[in-house]
Amino acid sequence: MTIQEQEIAERRWAPAYKAHCPRCKTSGRTFSSYGNAEQAAQGHADKYGHVTHVIDQYGIRIVGSIRRPGDAEAAAKP
Ligand SMILES: [Zn+2]
Repeated sequence: MTIQEQEIAERRWAPAYKAHCPRCKTSGRTFSSYGNAEQAAQGHADKYGHVTHVIDQYGIRIVGSIRRPGDAEAAAKP
């Protein structure tokens, strides 16, 4: 396999993460970084008071990605 082929293969399998709200039945924009999707999920949770989570490119929920309203503030406290 050439380096170019490897790069194409990596891009094809590059992870994609989305914040998903089961209450609204909608997903946010796609992020290549899990942290960004988690932030988006937290933003939705805080704004609408919905429990959200992060899904991958297959629509499968990431284990431990559940964000609840106020989680970010709770995490920021010592
Ligand atoms: Zn929602």
